[in-house]
Amino acid sequence: MVIRTASTQDDLRRLNRARLLRRLHEGGSARRSDLVAFSGLNRSTVGVLVSELADAGLVTEAAGLPGQVGRPSLRVAPVRNSAVVIAFDLKVERTIVALVGLGGGEIWRREQRHKRGDYTPEQAVRHVMSLIKQSLRRAPEGAAWVGVGIGVPGVVDHADGLVRLAPNLGWSDVPLGALLRAALESEYGFVPHLSVSNDADLGALAEHVRGQGAVKRNLIYLSGEVGIGGGIIIDGRPMLGAGGFGGEVGHMVVNPVGTECRCGARGCWETEIGLDALVRAAGITDPEAGVADVLAAASAGSRTARGAIDKAGEWLGVGLANLVNLFNPEVIVLGGHLRLLYPLVSSTVLRQVHHALPAAREQARVEVPALKADSTLLGAAEAAFEGLLADPMAVIADSVHATAS
Ligand SMILES: [Zn+2]
Repeated sequence: MVIRTASTQDDLRRLNRARLLRRLHEGGSARRSDLVAFSGLNRSTVGVLVSELADAGLVTEAAGLPGQVGRPSLRVAPVRNSAVVIAFDLKVERTIVALVGLGGGEIWRREQRHKRGDYTPEQAVRHVMSLIKQSLRRAPEGAAWVGVGIGVPGVVDHADGLVRLAPNLGWSDVPLGALLRAALESEYGFVPHLSVSNDADLGALAEHVRGQGAVKRNLIYLSGEVGIGGGIIIDGRPMLGAGGFGGEVGHMVVNPVGTECRCGARGCWETEIGLDALVRAAGITDPEAGVADVLAAASAGSRTARGAIDKAGEWLGVGLANLVNLFNPEVIVLGGHLRLLYPLVSSTVLRQVHHALPAAREQARVEVPALKADSTLLGAAEAAFEGLLADPMAVIADSVHATAS
């Protein structure tokens, strides 16, 4: 016999309320009857939970169109301006910030360049704090500020936001989470849910929730920047490894006679298809050059640039074939500069992927991100919403109004 105590009833109610809000945040508005089907709860319980979320201002209810049985079903929608998060994609040469509302809609964004190779953690914290202040000024009247999410191109301890190693920023053992927590506390006397994560893990999260993998349970996201990061979702869950450091596919050795890597090994995937490798192989010497410059040189007739693109395509395919064999993904999403490179080399890449074992290869698609260049940024927003989505009422009660800050 199961005795339901008051606390387990409360826990259940909290869990169910959280599940409904997550469904509305990730999937958009729904009829009450859809929420009944989705949750497996009865109609009146769904009605009560939705009313509680509506009282907290997080959702609205309006009469929808008549259903098949003729009775209009109430339509429940998340309220974008009720709760906001501030999301960052901290890249090697620029920082992108976005103010994102409940339901995932972007309200405001800004981009700020910084000097590559000369960006200290203290500068990063100052930049982030200044961009938070600017974002809050754009927040809708009365919105609750419920989170900050940051994507970093490096190995990050999710638990406390310690950046163990971000070689392309020149950072090692930087306690970014603790530094930001202290700065937020001193500036606002309040620390919203704070998440610091690997950029590719966040790209995988966003593509899984809202992009190419929305109905897939097995997805790999590759962040192509100076380095190559990997975010892996297996059976609907992120594959993080024992310490959260898994998925460092950029240092998978693909070419034993290749270039020496910063990690000490030779012929890492990163040294064959990373942005610096591509620019160098294209014969471009400008240290600020990006993939657009390589593509422009190739279309202007540079055989060196075209050769570099083709070679990168070969190595991209070799690495992907390994990933297909290892993880049996349904979709591999190519982010960062790989997103722009892929359309030029897709046949080369797929020829290499064909070397993977047939059973796994037949199930794998290679795609560019549905969220275009924003996968990591929007993944940072999703991670920042986690606190609210885990316990909406408690977070709303504790949060501060963004515009009052
Ligand atoms: Zn390496």
